[in-house]
Amino acid sequence: MNILLIGSGGREHALAWKISQSSLVDVVHATPGNPGMDVIGPCFDVAADDIDNLVKLTLQVEPDLVVIGPEAPLALGLADILRARGFDVFGPSKAAAQLESSKAFSKACMKAYGVPTAAYGTFTAPAPAKAFLRTLEAPYVLKADGLAGGKGVVIADTLEDADAGVDDMLSGQFGAASATLVIEEFMHGEEASIFVLTDGVGAVYLPAAQDHKRVGDGDTGPNTGGMGAYAPAPVVSEAVMDRIKREIVQPMLKGMAADGMPYQGVLYVGVMVTEAGPKVVEFNARFGDPECQVLMKGLTGDIVPAILGAATGALEGNETAFEALLELDTFQPSATVVLASKGYPGSYAMGSVINGMAEANHLPGVTVFQAGTDRDSEGALVAIGGRVLNVTASGATLEEAISRAYAGVDRIDWPEGFCRRDIGWRALGGSSSVKAT
Ligand code: AMP
Repeated sequence: MNILLIGSGGREHALAWKISQSSLVDVVHATPGNPGMDVIGPCFDVAADDIDNLVKLTLQVEPDLVVIGPEAPLALGLADILRARGFDVFGPSKAAAQLESSKAFSKACMKAYGVPTAAYGTFTAPAPAKAFLRTLEAPYVLKADGLAGGKGVVIADTLEDADAGVDDMLSGQFGAASATLVIEEFMHGEEASIFVLTDGVGAVYLPAAQDHKRVGDGDTGPNTGGMGAYAPAPVVSEAVMDRIKREIVQPMLKGMAADGMPYQGVLYVGVMVTEAGPKVVEFNARFGDPECQVLMKGLTGDIVPAILGAATGALEGNETAFEALLELDTFQPSATVVLASKGYPGSYAMGSVINGMAEANHLPGVTVFQAGTDRDSEGALVAIGGRVLNVTASGATLEEAISRAYAGVDRIDWPEGFCRRDIGWRALGGSSSVKAT
């Protein structure tokens, strides 16, 4: 098979790495790709949101399967356009991808299909939004309706801050994305990420993962795109997973299909495991980054049959066979540590040289996925983004995976980078060994 993979982050490097190991696959083309993906297969220079040129490139490459990594092309309808041209595509339609691109749409679907989530209201004017806040208890959760690069959620501790947040969002803090505002009840519990490969009816579940969103050790400091992740996540017991399947995923897939928006691709369910059971925090229309990296690293089987099955409608009724090909029974506990540019998630310098990649990659169980990297004119690997490398490892236990990942981190010679030192603390013992200051 000839694959075309769209995207350029650590998530896409991990997908390219895993897909290229399949005996079904001859070549993994990527666009725009990165220096890590470049050694796996040919990379092109079409950006992931340049729909016209992505369509042209697909017609030129004639792939047997298109895998769409990030949310932007999904929200712009790339999957629909390519399916209409006869291509098999792993990624939901524009209509189904609204589960991520509109929080108001997503909440309305959950309400209509009876899926447990936080109580909420949707607002376009400040007065009713502020009146609704007064029916809730602190803390208050305000969400921009549209895509805001993972930054559109404000959690306010006081009514005063929440009122100010309403004014800021509705007056354009996140541009058009916050012209509509969702206000939610705050849910207490532990979060986990569930990934479901689906053709709209059939569903194959990958092991539950957890990520670390805050920049600092002890889960402190501002939110980021994610500073590390691990799987499996012990908080999602078999009983919790059963409830997630029955109470969340099955009614969502059924409802979306019945409403003419069958969901094909990977459904990312952000859940809060509360005392009353699992509830949805958010849906995303693609793999999580960096959760994808640990899932690809930990899977011992072949992922291509399941993603092709999701794209072609072959999963329904054959889930057990696809699960066997994925070898879910022998999933290796895995962890990833994100190396980021100093200053991230604020401003940071670009162009610093990274050494030690080969040394890290030679350690047992370690694979370094690249995200914000490029090659300079002399061929040296340089940092060009906030999140730059994902040092990922698997092991016999989560503890071993985490210590292998940090052994990899210690081989990387990049003085301008930093990482968290406590990835996996919840799973390892329940408290961060690194005290917050
Ligand atoms: P979202 O983009 O909707 O996932 O929100 C970003 C983060 O805000 C989540 O990962 C949660 O940590 C937090 N969050 C969002 N909604 C809620 C909620 N209703 N209750 C508690 N925390 C929330």
